[in-house]
Amino acid sequence: MVHEVALPDGRRYPIVVGGLQALPEWLDRIGLQRGRCLIVTDENVAALHLDLLRTTLEAFGWLPHALILPAGEETKSLTHLSQIYDAALAWGIDRRTPLLAFGGGVIGDLAGFAAATLLRGLPLVQVPTTLIAQVDSAIGGKTGINHARGKNLIGAFYQPELVYADPTLLLTLPEREWTSGLAEVIKHALIGDADLFAFLEAHWEVIRHRAAELLPQLIAQAMAVKVRVVVQDERESGLRAILNFGHTFGHAIERVAGYGRFTHGEAVALGMLAALWLSHQRHPELPFDRLCSLILKLPIAQPLDGLTFSLLLDAMQVDKKTLASRLRFVLLQALGKAYVTDKVSVGELQAAWQFVLEMRRLAVGT
Ligand code: NAD
Repeated sequence: MVHEVALPDGRRYPIVVGGLQALPEWLDRIGLQRGRCLIVTDENVAALHLDLLRTTLEAFGWLPHALILPAGEETKSLTHLSQIYDAALAWGIDRRTPLLAFGGGVIGDLAGFAAATLLRGLPLVQVPTTLIAQVDSAIGGKTGINHARGKNLIGAFYQPELVYADPTLLLTLPEREWTSGLAEVIKHALIGDADLFAFLEAHWEVIRHRAAELLPQLIAQAMAVKVRVVVQDERESGLRAILNFGHTFGHAIERVAGYGRFTHGEAVALGMLAALWLSHQRHPELPFDRLCSLILKLPIAQPLDGLTFSLLLDAMQVDKKTLASRLRFVLLQALGKAYVTDKVSVGELQAAWQFVLEMRRLAVGT
């Protein structure tokens, strides 16, 4: 076991970084009864890794049944949720049948919500296959689907019984998905772990090229930040909001650009530059250049055309209205120390975006 999520009410579950071949031993260890299990995955993951998962489970006496869904954010929908319900109920499950969410954050969120609601709750095992999912989305129990009015508007807090991350699965990730995950790892370092930040700086070239020997440490350390936050604030009544560092601008960028033009992590990386600028205004002692320079090493090729400040501000207001909340920003007071504030003026936001545009101009040399 690498970590344990131990919630204040006594619920606890292990988080493991290890080879897929040892997953069945962990299923035994957490007390699941061998028999039927349902795997929910997407087409890309299925083509690359489903055979290995299936044969590994079968070798230990499991009877897996796989449901393969299309890849992409659109799959986090009521239509595909219903498809999981139909397939699971037609195949035959009972309350002890585990559901394995085998994929990135999309599959983890969707299948997690299916597990939360089928027969009022099936044992959920998260087997994340993207960097974002391994260090972030598979941990903490947020599950759900999107609605036409916005992302993640329907869902439940439902903790898994086990999170099992195999770093070697990440070697097949497309380059942009890897970069997107690295942006989230940098985010975890900025909000919660100065040592992780130094580790990233020291080994950046090797990490960027996914050197297998560094992956377990990278993943385990980035997971630890999420675990620390979640055990203190499972339901996002306070601290958990710091995980949204870079997300206020990030969500607006995704919305204005049209979902899909930027990956989530690319948008968050740009949002983090804006958030660092705002942080530096309030905390001049922050090592601003050092922090920005790691983010700027992320290879983000997408041009920022069309992302005017007024469109971004409108998009932030839409988010705010949908959630009936105030416009909130996560800022840093020091490396590894984040807090939430709603005291940011429109003028400052505009200057922060100007800074992002300027950084990009310098980075691409135009
Ligand atoms: P994703 O699940 O769409 O995966 C990205 C792409 O990588 C997909 O095309 C997928 O098929 C492919 N892929 C996955 N694993 C692969 C592998 N090993 N090899 C090759 N290709 C692979 O996206 P994501 O970035 O993992 O997750 C984003 C989602 O996570 C969003 O919906 C977001 O809202 C959610 N999220 C949830 C939480 C949470 O706390 N629940 C936190 C962060 C993000």
